[in-house]
Formats: sequence, C-alpha cells, structure tokens
Amino acid sequence: MTHHTLPRNLHPETLAVREAVERSQWGEHSEALYLTSSFVQPDCATAARRFANEEAGYTYSRTANPTVASFEQRLAAMEGTECAVGTSTGMGAILLMALTVLKAGDHVVCSQSMFGSTIRLLGGEMVRFGIETSFVAQTDVAAWKAAIRPNTRLLFAETPTNPLTDLCDIEALAGLAHAHGALLAVDNSFASPVLQRPARFGADLIIHSGTKLLDGQGRTMGGAVCGSTAVVDKIMGTFLRSGGLNIAPFNAWVMLKGMETLALRVRAQSAAALELAHWLEAHPNVTRVYYPGLESHPQHALAMRQQNGMGGPVLSFDVLGEGAEQLRANAFHVADSTRVCSITANLGDVKTTITHPASTSHGRLSEDQRRAAGIGQGLLRISVGLEHLDDLKADLSRGLDTLS
Ligand SMILES: *Cc1c(COP(=O)(O)O)cnc(C)c1O
Repeated sequence: MTHHTLPRNLHPETLAVREAVERSQWGEHSEALYLTSSFVQPDCATAARRFANEEAGYTYSRTANPTVASFEQRLAAMEGTECAVGTSTGMGAILLMALTVLKAGDHVVCSQSMFGSTIRLLGGEMVRFGIETSFVAQTDVAAWKAAIRPNTRLLFAETPTNPLTDLCDIEALAGLAHAHGALLAVDNSFASPVLQRPARFGADLIIHSGTKLLDGQGRTMGGAVCGSTAVVDKIMGTFLRSGGLNIAPFNAWVMLKGMETLALRVRAQSAAALELAHWLEAHPNVTRVYYPGLESHPQHALAMRQQNGMGGPVLSFDVLGEGAEQLRANAFHVADSTRVCSITANLGDVKTTITHPASTSHGRLSEDQRRAAGIGQGLLRISVGLEHLDDLKADLSRGLDTLS
C-alpha cells in the first residue's frame, strides 16, 4: 500500500476527505474496504516477526485492519488528538475507557445528564467491579469540584446534553481534573469535531458514538475513543486487541466515507435547527425552546465560544398544556401529526427525527427524577436533518396549530 504525506496544519474539512487515504497496487481513488478476517503472510519468518510485533504488517482483523486504521487516523486528525481506537458502538467506547483507565477502588465524577446507557453502565454495572461514580449537575462547576475525592481518576461529561442541550465548560472541567491528577473525558457524539474539538480545551479523552453524526445516514453502529498515544494506543489499543471490542471493517468504512460530508451536513443541519428554533420560539403553542444557538439559551455565549459559533442539529421544545396528562397528549399529537419527520430516538441523521423523551429515552426514570432533570411530559426533541425547512415547518404546524 502507498500513501503520500499530506502538508501539515490542514483544516478539518481537508482532513475529512484527504487524511488516511491509503491505496493498494490498483490505485483506487475511493478508500478500499478490506473485508477480511485475516491476512496472508509472505513466508513463515515474516509471520513470526509480525506476530512478535517486530515488524509492521497486518495479521488478523481483531489486531488491526487497514480500513479500521484509516477510520481511526482520520478521526484523530479531525479531533486534533495523537490517535484514536475504533469500537463496536459508542457504548463499547465508554466500556473500553472504563475498563482501561479505571480499576477497583477508583472513583468517577460524571454529569447526571449523560446518555441513559452511560448512567446505567457507570452507576450500575461498574459498581460490581469496585468502581464508584458520583453524578453531579451538568452546568455547576462547584458541584463537580465538591464531588472530587482523593481516589477520583476520571471526570466524564457530555456537551451539549440530550435532550435539554445543557453545556459544560470543557476548559473549566479540564482544569479541575488536572489539578486533582484525574483525566477529563468528553462524549462528543452530539457535537462532532466540526462543532467542537474538546482536546483544544484540555480534554484528555474524546468519546464518539459514530452511530450518530459520523455515519450521519443511520446505517451502522460504531464508536471511538480519541486521545494520546500513551493512553489510547498503548493502554486501550492493547486491551482492544485482546478484548475484541473492535469496530467491524464495514462499519469503519461507512463512517470513513460519512466523515467526508460531516462538515457540510453539520453546518447545514445547525443552520436549519437555528431557523426552526426561532420559528418555534415565536409559535403561540410552544412555551419554551431549548437550543444553544438561541440568545435565550442560558449558556449561549459559552456555546458560541466552545462550539465554533454553531448550535448543532438537536433542539427541544415544550408544547402548551396544563398538567402532565394534557401535556403528554399534546406532545403525542404534534409528533403523531408529522408525515415527514420520523418518530425514532436516533439523532444526527440526514432525516429529521422527533421523539418524546419522557416516554422513550428517559422513560425508565421516575416522575420525580424526570422533574429534577427538567424533562416534562410536554417536551419534544428534534434532530434536524436535510429536508427543506418549509416542509419541516408545515409538518410541525399540522399538530401545533391544532392542539386541544
Ligand atoms: C447514542 C449515544 C451513545 C451510545 O452510542 P451507541 O453507538 O448507541 O452505543 C453514547 N453517547 C451519546 C451522547 C449518544 O448519543
């Protein structure tokens, strides 16, 4: 295989299409998909050197695969980290992080507004392995600080959050983590490196659910952890080669190609989301809109600074109504009246999706927990896709204009 060396200091848009292009002897222009479990060795002596890690060369796809390597290299370049490792799913990336940077007796401080499975993994499953997690209010830096103990090894945040789009100040949390000898990990699935590159603000580990924006067209599942060679390649990569949490080559290839249009998609989806957020804010049957791109968002200034001036594709809003029952009926009416939007919990897709968090993604919480999290029965979340905005407005108007 051959590849030419790219000039240094290229922009993310250029890296997204040009980084990690490796060509076989055929000179294919588009990245090849190496759909093979093992690799044939030229002779036994070479095989022996490769298996002993004395010579570079592919042997077996759980250990390394050229398509997966291209995906990892491109994502790391876009995030501005030394390296990345690909995982089977986003949750696989979080599990890999927990099993490598933590051990029995360690403590984690984590936002209470993380993705639901993240909360169940850290607050539930990992407890059996002697790892304890404290959950704190996302936006309250003092609460993060107060939760830190001598055995705290990791701070873990997600910004912006689902579904209320709360931010955290990555730079402030990185300073806090490093002052206590801990690492800061940021789940960047909602933002992508187009909106925000957490490493620039001091984050040590960046988590991706590639299932969302990196694929962008809802086809495959995958994930990644980005960070330093010392932690991500040496420690996580070694674990991965034994533990088998790898991303499949086909999924890595879909994401590799998805990244080529990531910047275009995220910019167009963010611009559409901003316009839709303004339109919803002005609608008489909408009581509140949650979107970092709006000036009414309490952390608008931080969003503009941290997220490259964009709000991202995801917004939420409360429909008009009184009491839990009517609010829920009204929210269901708006979602059920759509004919363009998809009722599905996925996000970051080029197809606009609409969900009712209180009965789906946050349905397992008690009513009290939901109230504390600010997720009411009247709340709907939209991940804005690439449809024409007039069609989306008409789709939402059908239900919003006819509330009982
Ligand atoms: C979807 C999601 C995950 C989990 O990713 P999977 O690919 O579904 O395992 C983790 N974090 C965030 C923010 C997500 O949206």
